[in-house]
Amino acid sequence: MSESLEKAYKELIERTVEVSRIYSCAAVLDWDQKTYLPRKGSDSRAQQISMLVGMGHQKFVDPKVGDLIGELKAGGYDKEEFSDEETNIREISRAYEKAKKVPTSLVMETAETTVKADAAWVEARKKSDFESFKPWLEKVIELKRQYAEAVGYPKEPYDALIDDYEPGATVETIGKVLEDFRVELVDFVGRVIGSGKKPDTSILSRHYPVDKQEILGKMAASAMGFDFDSGRLDKTTHPFCTGLGVGDVRITTRYNPHHFNDAFFGIMHEAGHGLYEQGLDPKHWGTPRGEAVSLGIHESQSRMWENMVGRSLSFWKYFFPLAKGIFYETLRDVKLEDFHFAVNNVEPSFIRVEADEVTYNLHIMLRFEMEYAFFRGELKVDDIPAVWNEKFKHYLDITPPDDAKGCLQDVHWSNGLIGYFPTYTLGNLYSAQFFAKAKEDLGDLDEQFERGSFGELKQWLHKNIHTHGQRYRAGKLVEVVTGKPLSHKPFMDYLKSKFGPLYGV
Ligand code: ZN
Repeated sequence: MSESLEKAYKELIERTVEVSRIYSCAAVLDWDQKTYLPRKGSDSRAQQISMLVGMGHQKFVDPKVGDLIGELKAGGYDKEEFSDEETNIREISRAYEKAKKVPTSLVMETAETTVKADAAWVEARKKSDFESFKPWLEKVIELKRQYAEAVGYPKEPYDALIDDYEPGATVETIGKVLEDFRVELVDFVGRVIGSGKKPDTSILSRHYPVDKQEILGKMAASAMGFDFDSGRLDKTTHPFCTGLGVGDVRITTRYNPHHFNDAFFGIMHEAGHGLYEQGLDPKHWGTPRGEAVSLGIHESQSRMWENMVGRSLSFWKYFFPLAKGIFYETLRDVKLEDFHFAVNNVEPSFIRVEADEVTYNLHIMLRFEMEYAFFRGELKVDDIPAVWNEKFKHYLDITPPDDAKGCLQDVHWSNGLIGYFPTYTLGNLYSAQFFAKAKEDLGDLDEQFERGSFGELKQWLHKNIHTHGQRYRAGKLVEVVTGKPLSHKPFMDYLKSKFGPLYGV
């Protein structure tokens, strides 16, 4: 390879890493805003983040970046498919082509508006006051619409947004996956709910002191292999995980002293994301080769640990005695089987993040339909609460008592994360397909979990998924790892094999 091409590649990487470093500073401020920032500090924080994001964008869309990409492509520096070089050139080029169409002023305005909208959402949710949030949501949607028009899209404006989170996915491809899945899922939900069997969930609503929940949650995260020397756990309103740099991955949770599930499974979920971030190759930090593939793949990791591991009987065979030791007063009269059944209670509920595995994806289908509709201009912001409740009744046969438990529950819209929700369902489907393959490769995982041994699964995920960064796009990765394209079948098989026996259906 010629020296000048090598020099060009080196410069492209240096510029990309520099941009990532600026964005990671903004991410630290964002993490702080969602954990410790005093309420009155949100306006000045919005300006700080907006300035950094604007700087990063300007640096990235410098025509020199385009020149370097052009030079490398013309010189064939990216000819070896899936090599580190090809991965970086392919994905930097993709991001560059998108970013250069967006005015920096729009990037900055969106960043500032969404930080303020987030603060407004926190207050609106507390008071269940949709009216006070409405102007913010209108502003955010308008900015995202401008963004979609700027970057362009194959068919639907909503495609432009989905593509930010799940590169290459569109309304059409996701709609197709959901279509077949919906029919089987709705049928299965009906059978489970109609079975008449119900666990005693009151054991989960006993008193669980917060300090002890934190201890048990950290034990679970450590058992999974989350490295607390390279990460932290903090409190927030809406749990998330963020990778701030090599050796610095933050996970967050919220505690409810009268409900066991929220924090415990929330921590396992975020630690699942955290393992992905900690498993990325540090020598490629700041370049696509060292970053997660997509949000769907990210979610496949968190959901696998939260549900396929964390809600399995084998996991609790190991963990229940530990939980009993910590919550002695609360759990001393509870049997393992009853506890396991309780954490697998299937019941239509209002809050997505607390929904069981069986009904969860119905929450996503509803949001996907709504986002699609308001992006086509078929749904006005004014009508969101009513349409939300109507769809909720249709899918889950219950009506939210207020907007806090309805359309105000999620952080995404205030943060401008529109097009993000469908990645949750993709994540569930990916996770089941990966997990089935891991079981095939690793033998009896249940026997390992019963012994408190989770290292083999973690290593398998590291080797097959984490360490590759963006070498493969999501669809390709699924094929490379499992030998098959994405299908909803493994997920339905998983649901049936687990909930069938529990509910006798
Ligand atoms: Zn997640």
